[in-house]
Amino acid sequence: MTDQISLSPPDVGALEETYLVEALRSGWVAPTGPAVTAFEREIAERCGRAHAVATSSGTAALHLALMTLGVGPGDLVAVPTLTFAATANAVSYTGAEAVFVDVDPNTGNLDPELFANLCTELSRTGRRPAAVLPVDLYGRCADYDELLPLCDRYGVQVIEDAAEALGSTYRGRPAGSFGRAAVLSFNGNKIMTTSGGGMLLSDDQDLADRCRYLSTQARQPVAHYEHLDVGYNYRLSNLLAALGRAQLHRLDDMIARRRILRDGYAKLFAATDGVRLLGADDPDANCWLTSIVVDPYRTGWTAADLAAHLTAADIETRPLFKPMHLQPVFSGAHTVLSGVAQRLFEHGLSLPSGSAIRDVQVHRIFDAVAGFLARPASR
Ligand SMILES: *Cc1c(COP(=O)(O)O)cnc(C)c1O
Repeated sequence: MTDQISLSPPDVGALEETYLVEALRSGWVAPTGPAVTAFEREIAERCGRAHAVATSSGTAALHLALMTLGVGPGDLVAVPTLTFAATANAVSYTGAEAVFVDVDPNTGNLDPELFANLCTELSRTGRRPAAVLPVDLYGRCADYDELLPLCDRYGVQVIEDAAEALGSTYRGRPAGSFGRAAVLSFNGNKIMTTSGGGMLLSDDQDLADRCRYLSTQARQPVAHYEHLDVGYNYRLSNLLAALGRAQLHRLDDMIARRRILRDGYAKLFAATDGVRLLGADDPDANCWLTSIVVDPYRTGWTAADLAAHLTAADIETRPLFKPMHLQPVFSGAHTVLSGVAQRLFEHGLSLPSGSAIRDVQVHRIFDAVAGFLARPASR
């Protein structure tokens, strides 16, 4: 019996235990408290932002960001079609409609040219997207040098979905520092975790205050529970914030560990014609997930063949996200497509990338991949 190797298991240990127990013993077992405040300050600093609001999930933070930027029914919001459903779901919560835009073949991130086409097309009838949600896919920052000037020109508000990208930088600027607001996730499979949680980041004090207010049931600051707005229960627990503070201490080590895995995969596949690593030429990415893209006509095998081989060896892999425009729930949505996201979905595979994967497990993965590549061709 071998133990199952997961794609991106949580990486928690003694430091997390210490912080968690300390928070528990402090008596602050509530969705507020000193660990939340400290965690917000530390994340804001790490991301180069003036304000941070800790939330119960990244999805909640996306919802708050969209609402406070005034996005609602009748609005269009541009979303890269290759993303996790949370990005698009948050748009739906507001009553706005997502427009799914295709992606760059090298990075899987929002294609700036297609986004520009959408803006031009809408401007012909005097319209524009109310907002765009660039996603830093698998930890690689979107192409902000191209996107931000376009957003300025067309008057489109930017919310950075940096759920997968904490610790990455783009031309020296941290992920989470782009747009009117940015969102992080601390879900169990992300680069660091609070078991579940998220963060809204902004340089705009009013926006951050409004998000904090809406995230605590929109309670007025009086004793008798006075409410002027519909609110939400979106705050992060103090215990989980303590866990997050411990994880943040270890973030750079965890990123370094993921980079070792990525470099190992790059070496493994270097001699295989027809396999490339998705967006892996970025030295400033956090390497959250390392994914390959297979050209089966050149390799003689498919991504699914490799997945089956690794599954048989108790090693987890995942296809890339199924594009949003192919999801039944979003059928009929507006789209600007090139076919790239669908091809990446059909030929891509994410490989085990977690920092908690031990050395012996790394060797097992690399041996299994090498064994697959060395096997006699089946055709
Ligand atoms: C994980 C993720 C989210 C949602 O975060 P949760 O904390 O799970 O709600 C949003 N967008 C992207 C791109 C993600 O990967």
